[in-house]
Amino acid sequence: MSYIQFENIKKSFGETMVLQGITLAVARGNMVTLLGPSGCGKSTLLRCLAGLEGVSGGRILLDGEDITQKSPKNRKIGMVFQQYSLFPNLNVFDNIAFGLSLQKRPAAEIRTLVEDAVDMVELNGKENSYPRHLSGGQQQRVALARSLVLRPKVLLLDEPLSAIDAKLRKSLQLRIKEIQKALNITCIFVTHDQDEALIMSDVIHLFNAGRVEQSGSPIELYTGPQTRFAAEFIGSYNLVEKERFAQMIQSPILDTAVAIRPETIDIVLEPPAEQEDRYVLPATVKYYIPHGNVLRYTVMVNGVELEADVLFRSFKVFEPEQNVYIVVEKRNCLPIAQ
Ligand code: ADP
Ligand code: MG
Repeated sequence: MSYIQFENIKKSFGETMVLQGITLAVARGNMVTLLGPSGCGKSTLLRCLAGLEGVSGGRILLDGEDITQKSPKNRKIGMVFQQYSLFPNLNVFDNIAFGLSLQKRPAAEIRTLVEDAVDMVELNGKENSYPRHLSGGQQQRVALARSLVLRPKVLLLDEPLSAIDAKLRKSLQLRIKEIQKALNITCIFVTHDQDEALIMSDVIHLFNAGRVEQSGSPIELYTGPQTRFAAEFIGSYNLVEKERFAQMIQSPILDTAVAIRPETIDIVLEPPAEQEDRYVLPATVKYYIPHGNVLRYTVMVNGVELEADVLFRSFKVFEPEQNVYIVVEKRNCLPIAQ
């Protein structure tokens, strides 16, 4: 049985239905991500789980218990937000100790637990600093420690890294994942950033307008989008309408549009032997843009524009106007539902 279960959760604000009946399960010890564009209901679902919002319909089970009507303070759920919301007048130690002090735990125990947490988030030596003297990344680590120290049943992380610059963000992503695995804590992570979701998650639930569009492991979602929305949100798929695809491969029309990942398309100068399981098509290079270690080419294939990624290994590149061939396996041309 799953550790957390959302059963047909509905939530309206006035006339607006923000959650349209969400059913999903979270396994114990997993890092689960809610991914989706701004406004699709991710934070609302977290807030319903934490008890900060009531639901308009449905049930939430945690560890076998129906917590739908339980007061937030009895749910044992920790939460970290994008804005760090530390107490400005308390130092790092006291910020982290705050919840334990409220519980009137003995001073010696508080000291041990806080020191553990400080170790975990690598803030040793900063115990006496005040939030205003810390960087954004350090403040967020205090917020994380403040939640972890209470050993919640579930830790909710609502876009915790969105305000942190790119490089530091990468290292914090890895740190959070390490801590999550080390403590075997069940986490729900919210982000609108597909790369972050792919890095962090055991399971991703892709949200679209208050519904779950598709769920799966990062690899399943990346390589197997089932809908147009999923293909547009994850990866940088070429979406080719069915008429255009027929024109591209010079064959009769298929039933659905097709999505093709740029990195599954090869560009070559000489056409390789025909094979049943792949398309080999003449193409012309339009232009290319360097994306770090990849060159992203835009090519014209029988009048259809496609993007193809080539690992940037040599000094030799294909130039605009050059005649080339593209090779793509048929299984990498994914049929996409409307
Ligand atoms: P996300 O976290 O995915 O960006 P939210 O869950 O914050 O989305 O919001 C989903 C929708 O619900 C948005 O359209 C938002 O404006 C609306 N919403 C959220 N909270 C409230 C509220 N307290 N009152 C009215 N509308 C709200
Ligand atoms: Mg949000």
